[in-house]
Amino acid sequence: MNRKVRAIKVVDQLEKMYPDASCSLCYEDPIQLMVATQLAAQCTDARVNIVTKDLFKKYKTVCDFANADLLELEQDIRSTGFYRNKARNIIGACRMIISEYEGTVPSDMDSLLKLPGVGRKTANLLRNDYFGIPGIVVDTHAKRLSIRIGLTDNKDPEKIEYDLMKIIPEDKWGRFCHQLVYHGRALCNARKPLCEKCGILPFCKFGATHISELK
Ligand code: SF4
Repeated sequence: MNRKVRAIKVVDQLEKMYPDASCSLCYEDPIQLMVATQLAAQCTDARVNIVTKDLFKKYKTVCDFANADLLELEQDIRSTGFYRNKARNIIGACRMIISEYEGTVPSDMDSLLKLPGVGRKTANLLRNDYFGIPGIVVDTHAKRLSIRIGLTDNKDPEKIEYDLMKIIPEDKWGRFCHQLVYHGRALCNARKPLCEKCGILPFCKFGATHISELK
């Protein structure tokens, strides 16, 4: 089965398994989505949602984040880990949004990537989920599953993003990445993938080998 055919089969199967897959971070505007996504680095979405519940009541606007006291913001987000870098980046990004983009989160990739702490993953998530511009979001689940299934030979997230762009239909990019996250949590977890229960098994390179080893 060539890679493109495999990709279409996987897209169809994921669509059946997770028809309602969506971003699991809670947010109401693009600033909140940018902040939540930055906090989600090396942290679970569930933990981020607990933290942002109070955080977004305290810091309501881009100005509130831009003018935040660094040490205070660090403590507010401490439980998400790497809190010093995250606090500095969030304040820096919000200051740049005010000074360069009139207080509005930009939608183009080049501008997003200039914001402190915003890499392609965050930029693509913002574009997909807020602006409705298709993009491939390669997080830890999308990376692991793409490699296991055999949709890429690369390990670098940016290269994986471009590999997936070639074989996944553009109108499916956003949903596909959310579905990979759901599947990574439900069955294809990092330590013990449950291949024997997986609907993607017939199309998965790792699964075929894994199942034959179990026999
Ligand atoms: S068959 Fe196994 S490795 Fe492949 S997607 Fe399913 S759980 Fe993951």
